[in-house]
Amino acid sequence: MKRIAVINQKGGVGKTTTTVNLGAALAFHGQRALLLDLDPQANMTVHVDKRPDLESNTLTNLLIDDTPLGELVQKTAMDNLFVVPSDTSLAGVEQVLANRIGRETILRRALDKAKAEDDYDFVLFDCPPSLGVLSANALVAADYVVIPMQAEYLSLQGMAKLLEVIDLVQSQLNPNLQIACVLPCMLDSRTNLSAEVLSEIEEHFGPLLTEARIRNNVKLAEAPSFGRSIFEHAPDSNGAKDYAAFALEFMQKVGLEVDPALLADDEEEEYEYEEEEDDEVEVEGVEEDAADDDEDVTEEVVAEDEDVAEDDEDTSEADIEADEVMEDEVAEAEVVQAKEAPEEPLDDPELIERADEPPASAEAEAEI
Ligand code: ATP
Ligand code: MG
Repeated sequence: MKRIAVINQKGGVGKTTTTVNLGAALAFHGQRALLLDLDPQANMTVHVDKRPDLESNTLTNLLIDDTPLGELVQKTAMDNLFVVPSDTSLAGVEQVLANRIGRETILRRALDKAKAEDDYDFVLFDCPPSLGVLSANALVAADYVVIPMQAEYLSLQGMAKLLEVIDLVQSQLNPNLQIACVLPCMLDSRTNLSAEVLSEIEEHFGPLLTEARIRNNVKLAEAPSFGRSIFEHAPDSNGAKDYAAFALEFMQKVGLEVDPALLADDEEEEYEYEEEEDDEVEVEGVEEDAADDDEDVTEEVVAEDEDVAEDDEDTSEADIEADEVMEDEVAEAEVVQAKEAPEEPLDDPELIERADEPPASAEAEAEI
């Protein structure tokens, strides 16, 4: 079972889109893939056609009540693709767990305890746009991290903080954790800015930057309102091609054998950027629903943007500080600096202190 955290504390960069479509691509290649929605916004739950308000069993039950994973997993419309949905109740989890010992290791313990029939080839965690207890659980449980990023100057801000947190988790709680890749999302090659920022990202991340590029593609934005992955919604779109190419690259990165014929096809792909695709994909009987859903989605995105704007205000000081750290060599950022930025939820002194003390993590281990 390979566990993948799709994470970036910046909002709206393509985490959910990447989780769903990477999971769908893996399922398409015959891998049993399980998606866990770790975001109280429950966008991923909607994306795979579940209704957050109607789901009685959600990830909250696993984190708070120790409900076994197997009781929470649901099928999706795709063979081999499964999901544990979430809803807004997940927002209260951070508070409920505030004083619980070993709160960062709950997800890892639950996955370790999963029964043989719940053994998946891949478990993907869609993380929220913050670095709190939910993201900590994802990083502690994961083998690999995938970082979706937009090619904008502000995207690099905050990255030092994320790398610091990954370092901290690696050194204190999860030595197996590796960054699998940094995936550029929502690319618009018409701007020179994208190319400049991409080369800056490459400077920082070197070979961790994927060859694959996810272009801006309206079909990717539409797919959630149909409750489908891009491969079901618009298989010929650039969005489907880009995520298929990314999935192949990802599978190689994590040591899976990939049919060479597929790779040959992949190499022929040329990146042509489009203004916008306007070829409609007809889906019987759901046009009206989809129109309604689109409105909902628009409202949701506006609401998310507002949240994100608030988040940005909250974290701007920490981000500036983090950016300075990045200039001074990101990879060597020290835990001490994390302590000095109290605005970030993961800088919760309790967590840092606990992470600093081997006995506490040993205590968590003992519980497993
Ligand atoms: P959050 O931080 O709020 O969880 P996120 O990082 O999960 O956001 P997504 O929800 O995947 O980001 O994407 C944000 C919005 O952009 C969504 O409406 C999604 O449909 C759309 N989107 C994602 N990728 C693309 C793309 N390549 N082209 C066009 N639209 C995209
Ligand atoms: Mg999301």
